Amino acid sequence: MKTNLLDFDLDGLVAWCLAQGEKKFRAVQLFRWIHHKGVSDFAQMSDLAQSLRTKLQASADIVSLPVVSRHDSADGTIKWMFDVGQGNAIETVFIPETDRGTLCISSQAGCAVGCTFCSTGAQGFSRNLTTAEIIAQLWFAERTLRQERGVDERVISNVVMMGMGEPLQNYAALVPALKTMLDDHGYGLSRRRVTVSTSGVVPMMERLGLDCPVALAVSLHAPSDALRDVLVPLNIKYPLTELLQACRDYLDHAPRDFITFEYCMLDGVNDTDIHANALVELVRPRNAEPLPCKFNLIPFNPYPASGLTRSSPERVKAFAAILSEAGIVTTIRKTRGDDIAAACGQLAGEVQDRTDVSGRRAKTIRIHA
Ligand code: SAH
Ligand code: SF4
Repeated sequence: MKTNLLDFDLDGLVAWCLAQGEKKFRAVQLFRWIHHKGVSDFAQMSDLAQSLRTKLQASADIVSLPVVSRHDSADGTIKWMFDVGQGNAIETVFIPETDRGTLCISSQAGCAVGCTFCSTGAQGFSRNLTTAEIIAQLWFAERTLRQERGVDERVISNVVMMGMGEPLQNYAALVPALKTMLDDHGYGLSRRRVTVSTSGVVPMMERLGLDCPVALAVSLHAPSDALRDVLVPLNIKYPLTELLQACRDYLDHAPRDFITFEYCMLDGVNDTDIHANALVELVRPRNAEPLPCKFNLIPFNPYPASGLTRSSPERVKAFAAILSEAGIVTTIRKTRGDDIAAACGQLAGEVQDRTDVSGRRAKTIRIHA
């Protein structure tokens, strides 16, 4: 079987090339062709010796993911659905803005955390994506967008690991993908422009800070353990005190001097003034240093059978005002791409007869493309 070179960060590709009897600088050249230029055909890699190209053709390939569907939103957002085999699909979303282009990438098929308000969580866990499957989303989107726009320069300026799955529960595959995004010979994105979003896998937050410190977003959603245990079941394992300490520790390594807290606004569940005041107390406790943070309020995006509703715009504004008045920078996330079910929490893919980690049959959800 051929080796898919998308599976390697630069260190990995160097090791692979050395094992093939090739020099280190060949790995750099190859890596640049793949990630910098978006080339998948060895024949086009003009500065590699013909003999090496022939050798590569026999032993390696550069394989992206098969596209199941593509949807273009009226606001310019694009959603691709990719087939990852055995009835599983993942989704990737491109969000253009005037000053940047953000790609929202998936890290798993399904998710084992099972947050009550999330469509990915409702479908259960299928499997971790490989490094190649994670980076292929960026490789493919960047190459496609450049071709469509007829440009050579970079189209995607920011990456957020906010698609399907919990990135810190797929740590081994995630880190080489992040390193490829950051590498000057790869996508050359700055650490501040690559964000990992987590529901709070505390031990892995610590490791990320040491191995590959990028911007961190933490999905908070509740100011108390009692409520967070219900909304984000991982909280039972890693409760708020531990989570907030992990956030403080991460700041020693982080490329930004704050943590972003995401907070999904659920009507009547977590959106009252009492919740807002409790959040202020949580991140600005009277007996300790304030935790440097920003809040990003995400109006809940409904999906079929969730049984939950979105907080009213007035409620979201009033909630934001309490945080802002306490001196916490608070933004309300604009919903993008909801006409193509590409907004936060609406990514579900097409899932059939999935069995979750515990061997139970998970719920079957079919979202039609
Ligand atoms: N698993 C990671 C990253 C993917 S989810 C995490 O939970 O952080 C990306 C963001 O979308 C998270 O903040 C998540 O809580 C939020 N989200 C999930 N479902 C949502 C929904 N239905 N409406 C709005 N935001 C949602
Ligand atoms: Fe998983 Fe994140 Fe969805 Fe929770 S919000 S179920 S952690 S993808």
